This record gives sequence, C-alpha cells and structure tokens, in this order.
Amino acid sequence: MSGRFAPTPSGPLHFGSLVAALGSYCQARHHRRDWLLRIEDVDTPRVVAGAADSILRDLEAFGFEWDGPVVYQSQRFELYREHLERLVADNAVYACACSRRQLREQGVASGPLGQIYPGNCRRRALPLDAGSIRLDVATAGRVGFVDRVYGDFDLDLPRDVGDFVLRRADGIYAYHLAVVVDDALQAIDEVVRGADLLENTCLHLYLQQRLGFAAPAYLHLPLVSTVDGQKLSKQTGAEGLRVEQASSLLCAALRHLGQQTPAELAGAPARDILERAVATWNPRAIPAIRAARAETFDA
Ligand code: GLU
Repeated sequence: MSGRFAPTPSGPLHFGSLVAALGSYCQARHHRRDWLLRIEDVDTPRVVAGAADSILRDLEAFGFEWDGPVVYQSQRFELYREHLERLVADNAVYACACSRRQLREQGVASGPLGQIYPGNCRRRALPLDAGSIRLDVATAGRVGFVDRVYGDFDLDLPRDVGDFVLRRADGIYAYHLAVVVDDALQAIDEVVRGADLLENTCLHLYLQQRLGFAAPAYLHLPLVSTVDGQKLSKQTGAEGLRVEQASSLLCAALRHLGQQTPAELAGAPARDILERAVATWNPRAIPAIRAARAETFDA
C-alpha cells in the first residue's frame, strides 16, 4: 500500500509544494507505506519544459527518496481513454457542446468549484466528439468523507457542482479522471495533498464509485498563503527553493504542519531532518485551518 506526491510540472518546487511533499512523505513513511512520485503532466499546455526534472532534482537535494519509477500522466492517456470508455458503456457520461462563455451568458450559478453546469446537453445525445465529456451526477446526492485533518466534509454534487468534465473539448483528459484512475491503479490507499483539493475529493469519491474503485483515505494539509491570503503558487509569485537552505526550509515546512523542530535540528543535514520528522510525525498536530502564511514567505 502506498502514499504519493503528485506535483504538476508548471514550475519549480516552491514552499507550498514542499509542504505537500513533506506531509505526504512523513504520513506514508511513518506508517511504513511506499511513497510514489507521479508527475501530473496530463494538461500538456500547462507543462513548463524542464519543470519536472527540476522538481525531481530538488526533491533529491532535499533528501526525499521515492519508491519505484516516477510515473508520468502524459504516458497514460490510453488508460484514461479505457476508463472513460467504461463510463460511456455505462451511460454515465455525455457529450456537451456548451462553452464557458455561453454558460456565463446564460447566467449559470457558481459553486465552490466554479460554474455549476445546469445539464443543458444531458439529454441531447450528441456524438462523443462534439465537445467536452461530462459525468452525469444527477443522482449522486451528497458525497462526503472524513478527512484525517478537517473531519467531516461533504458536497451535494448536483446542487453544488453539477456534471463535471472528464475530457475537455480539446481532447485533454481532466485532472479528476487522471487522478482517480492513477490513485486506484497505483494502489494508493491514502491520499495526502493540499486543502485546496478538499472539495475536489467529493468529485473523486463519486467517480471512484462509478468506476468500481475502492476509496482511499484522505488527509489534506493547510495551504501556504501569500500575504493577501491567496494560495502560494506559481501564479501568485511563488519562487523556486534554494537548495542551500534545504534544512531551514524543511524545518519551516514541518512547523507549518504543526510539528516540533527542536533547536538542535537547525543546520542538520536534510536527510537527518527527514528521518527524525518521519519518526516523530504526528498528524493530529496539523492545524485544521485552510491556509496560513509561512514564516519563510514575506512577499
Ligand atoms: N497535481 C496537483 C497539484 O500539483 C495535486 C493533485 C493531487 O495531489 O491529487 O496541485
């Protein structure tokens, strides 16, 4: 059984992604699970050349060791296609010709994940190559789970989300399909990732049901936010990490996750810090807040 870290290679590892890597690593290793690395390059136009290699180099420099070969979503389109076909055979999906703009003009409501698709094309039986492909959630009802940090969490899928896209009109498989297929085929039994994906987890649980996959456990981690409260990301100016500062950055990431970092750790080699972090890891100390500013991030 395994945990995983699944970065999108749209830029270098930054402090927010270091926190996700560290949290997933400690949770997996503390429970003697494998820790797998998956590069989420399914959305090829968003991929930045060289970013995946730079993330792998940084993870190594920070002392992380992963199990097995690195998996690249860009090499797994065939698997996503096969699983989408199963949903087609089950009448669980349909083609949709609506553009985002048309929906805006139609005045559709917005929910926690953006536009709530009102089902315009659900009964039109359009050919599957007519646009995007959506999962029909009309009968999904409330879908929830107990997060290991945030506790009970649920969404009413038809009301709060609507039928969501599994393959975009440009032929690109959606993150939701890729992540559900990959987590199942890689036998991930616990998913640890940023709290920005809490809502998405309800979509993933429903998709797992439709595909007959067992649901993994979920543990979300508080995000690192910028000074104005946005998620730290490439878009909000996150900078790459300086490998010379690996020890202090790891200690800062551990504190962000509520873990103790005794003074004698300062300046210890990255590998020693990680080893101790795995041994003393306490997920109950992770603060159940959506995001917090990190001590290292002053932008
Ligand atoms: N690829 C996503 C990201 O970099 C993480 C997805 C996940 O862990 O499920 O934000």
